Amino acid sequence: MSNSTTHPFRIGFGVDIHQLVEGRDLIVGGVKIESDLGALGHSDADVLLHAICDALLGAANLRDIGYHFSDTDPKFKGIDSRILLKESYKLVKEKGYRLGNIDSTVLLEAPKLNPHITSMQQIIAEVLEVDVDLISIKATRGEKMGFVGERKGIQAYANALIYAV
Ligand code: MG
Repeated sequence: MSNSTTHPFRIGFGVDIHQLVEGRDLIVGGVKIESDLGALGHSDADVLLHAICDALLGAANLRDIGYHFSDTDPKFKGIDSRILLKESYKLVKEKGYRLGNIDSTVLLEAPKLNPHITSMQQIIAEVLEVDVDLISIKATRGEKMGFVGERKGIQAYANALIYAV
């Protein structure tokens, strides 16, 4: 039986999707973005932070965000996803790992996310207490195709590398 000491590096992947609807805030990477449509969800529906949580948890083989923070638990209704990110990383640290780096991509047709990327990086780095250089965030569109392109939803992907300490 192996343990974490035999695995100095581990990689994780996360993906998340939320519907876009009227009457909800659009919060991505902890930043509230001016938009006619917002993300629907039990929490604040921050698709990027959720994907990053799953990447971190996955890297440490700690299941997924829904396993730890149920979307039917009233305790998590409307919760700031920065709390979920902090708690997810805490579980990873308790297993003996620290963050190497994160690389992520958000798919949103409109509005443009690029003006907000630096703020998102700073917020995530602050929550995880790591250098902002470890947090890569990219943005792309759906080119009018599929649920992203038709503005029905927002999606995010994230990879996380962790290392044993
Ligand atoms: Mg989610």
